[in-house]
Amino acid sequence: MLPDGRRLSRVETGTPSADGPAAVVRACQETVATARAGVPDEVATALAGVGISSPGPLDPGAGVVTEPPNLGPEFHDVPLAAALAESTGLSAFLDRDTNVAALGEHAFGAARGVDDFIYLTVSTGVGGAVFTDGRLFHGPDGIAGELGHVQVALDGPRCGCGGQAHVESFAGGASLAREARALVAAGASPFLVERARALGEPAELSAKDVADGSLAGDPACVELMDRARRAVAAGCVGYVHAFNPHRIVIGGSIAEAEGDRLLAPIRAAVERDVFPVFARRVRVVPAGLGGDVSLAGCHPLVQSRLGGGELTIGSVTSMPSTAPAVTAGASPGGISR
Ligand SMILES: [Zn+2]
Repeated sequence: MLPDGRRLSRVETGTPSADGPAAVVRACQETVATARAGVPDEVATALAGVGISSPGPLDPGAGVVTEPPNLGPEFHDVPLAAALAESTGLSAFLDRDTNVAALGEHAFGAARGVDDFIYLTVSTGVGGAVFTDGRLFHGPDGIAGELGHVQVALDGPRCGCGGQAHVESFAGGASLAREARALVAAGASPFLVERARALGEPAELSAKDVADGSLAGDPACVELMDRARRAVAAGCVGYVHAFNPHRIVIGGSIAEAEGDRLLAPIRAAVERDVFPVFARRVRVVPAGLGGDVSLAGCHPLVQSRLGGGELTIGSVTSMPSTAPAVTAGASPGGISR
């Protein structure tokens, strides 16, 4: 990708998480090699680093993916950065997908020129990143910024992480799908019962079916989507007070599909429930970069670790449930896509 965001080479392949960690690592290595082969020799030989975006939790300093819940049961303590450094002969740097996405939005998207912002993604899960004083906030263990796992009620559904009443347990796509199946089992949503029949299996129901049911006026779906929006809004009220951001950038597939149906209640909550001195400074905006946001962020990731404007290549390992992708790209003078 060029410094203005244009891309020179992009390769995408499925994440073979069912075949074990070695297969995932190999897929990353092969995809990066293919992307590198797709650019002119003078670019391929001038690359200075590899940026890697992966689901967390992970150790960004050591370049090790610790124990991501969606890359298979054997995928833990995988030294992904070292594997890509070895296969490419370049320096390789790893960070959590949401942190890399925040870097991308800061460099090229909805947070350009804003050094204090919150990035939130509402998708299969709810993830986040805290950008403060022009830098990612990692915390002492490199894992800070899990904004989807902030508790927003005293009671509520169990979260995938084991906690309770977290933003993700109300608003994440996997949680909404689970609630949809429960509604079908209880016969409590005529819309979802009919949709499950059309799909052939209640297990096939997704967050999109709940959103469709809400738009069609099904009361149970309306209530679920309303609760999801209120949970995200309540989370944002807390983030504003905790971090004093000037912008909240909201991305992810559910946020994209919902648009102002999600953003308007967040803006209303910030206006209503936040100290005016904080609220005056915050704008709630949609993400600017869409599905490739982490790939865009690989370039600033490498730049920030190397401390210069180098040529880079990126690798994105996605959760299979959100995007079938190991993606890689190379960029002259610019960005790793
Ligand atoms: Zn949680």
